[in-house]
Amino acid sequence: MTAPFIPVNTPLLDGNEADYVAECIRTGWISSEGPFIKRFEQAMAAAAGRRHGIAVTNGSVGLDIAVHALGLETGSEVIIPTFTIISCAAALVRAGLVPVGVDCDPATWNMTAAGVEAAVTPRTRAIMLVHIYGLPVDLDPILALARKHDLKVIEDAAEMHGQTYRGAPCGSFGDVSTFSFYPNKHVTTGEGGMILTDDDALAARLQSYRNLCFQPQQRFVHEELGWNARMTNLQAALGVAQVERLPRTVEIKRRIGRLYDEHLAGLNRIRRPLPRTSYADNIYWVYGVVLNEDVPFDAKEAMRRLGERGIGTRPFFWCMHEQPVLRRMGLMLNESHPNAEYIARRGFYLPSGLALTDGEIARSAEALEEILA
Ligand SMILES: *Cc1c(COP(=O)(O)O)cnc(C)c1O
Repeated sequence: MTAPFIPVNTPLLDGNEADYVAECIRTGWISSEGPFIKRFEQAMAAAAGRRHGIAVTNGSVGLDIAVHALGLETGSEVIIPTFTIISCAAALVRAGLVPVGVDCDPATWNMTAAGVEAAVTPRTRAIMLVHIYGLPVDLDPILALARKHDLKVIEDAAEMHGQTYRGAPCGSFGDVSTFSFYPNKHVTTGEGGMILTDDDALAARLQSYRNLCFQPQQRFVHEELGWNARMTNLQAALGVAQVERLPRTVEIKRRIGRLYDEHLAGLNRIRRPLPRTSYADNIYWVYGVVLNEDVPFDAKEAMRRLGERGIGTRPFFWCMHEQPVLRRMGLMLNESHPNAEYIARRGFYLPSGLALTDGEIARSAEALEEILA
């Protein structure tokens, strides 16, 4: 008999989630007007030490609205890591901005200050910081560049719930910072997102854009176009329960990382995630591995072989400068970023969900050793 398939992610919802969602149904508060929205926004803002939290329908639309609200002049350049999710580039393109990619560090998989410095031009107006897979970007030198060149900072902290940089919470570093609550994130609401800021005027704009730019005095008369990106009370109820358990979630994720590290310590044909840097300990949003040069096949083939053995995986991000849709628009055409290109082809992640058992971690690690033997 074959062992059951191990999915790449399974969330854990066994705290107050069911009680809070039931409360929404009992009280009839299921829309975006319900009381859990404020509670969730305040909990997320407090966790990152920010003044305002604006709940939205997902992390991608959070980026859209955050970028839009900064009001950068059309055609301005914004520096992004090429190794990220399409949401980052899409938000810029939709706002009429020009994404300029930078390579990642081969060990942390994050954008570097050297890359950013080389990408700054007289047309640069902002930097989008994206923390990748469990370690934050080394922020200090990049924030110094932002100050030096008077650039806005958008921080995509979608994968960084509960992570800190030199002791300060991720989500506290951008003029606007965003989170996602997709089911594989450390805090999930099924679908959902949050925008954080300390700027009162910006917060008011974000709230308006989230709600179709309805006006308090004349509801159906619009001065600007917005989005319907309102989160429901049902989702926020889940979110409040998930934030309550975040410290425990981070502990479980770190333990998953430690167990994989122990199992895979003798396997020298892969690069494993860095457990720590001088500025942060990994929170293992996912446990990613990168095949070394001597492995005669790529991530796609490795994932196929693991799938045959009942192990769920996901490929790493595909570089923004290699996206057909962006290239057809004439964007990021003359870029080459060898570190990101390498990990995009040779990297993938193992089952990393919160409900993973020790036995499943051992089986996943053994299967990886087998296919690389
Ligand atoms: C998940 C993720 C997003 C998108 O969030 P959704 O809620 O899925 O739209 C954006 N940026 C990063 C880095 C992510 O990991």
